[in-house]
Amino acid sequence: MKPNEGRLQTAEHILARILENMIPDAKFVIAKFEADSGLMEISTKEDLRKADKIELQNRVNAVVRKNLRVSKYLVNRDSRAEAEFDLARLPSSVKEIRIVDIEDFDKTPCKDPHVENTSEIGCFSIVKVERAGKDRYRFVFRVD
Ligand SMILES: [Zn+2]
Repeated sequence: MKPNEGRLQTAEHILARILENMIPDAKFVIAKFEADSGLMEISTKEDLRKADKIELQNRVNAVVRKNLRVSKYLVNRDSRAEAEFDLARLPSSVKEIRIVDIEDFDKTPCKDPHVENTSEIGCFSIVKVERAGKDRYRFVFRVD
């Protein structure tokens, strides 16, 4: 595990949730993590290069500062789980799904490392937003 991966991963879940709540057609596509930065791509018809990065950063940091508990648990891949989560990318052979649950904020299937509490994330910042293809935008972000 890269040193900041849990912090970057959890920040990514928060940013994705905020964007998906703000923009009706926004959908998480992919995320990648380097030693001290993270990258996340979102698909939407809205030009996210025009989004207010400071406002978005502030929204993420406001969630971070709520000291929300982050729990992880397994659920069976049943019809309820299919309805609640987007499992399209998971192979059908996967019968148990690991949920990362940010207390009263977001639940997302993810198998990677995350922090135990959002307060561990520190200060979140957006380095840049760029176009990554048709209706697809890439966020590069850090936690310090
Ligand atoms: Zn994750």
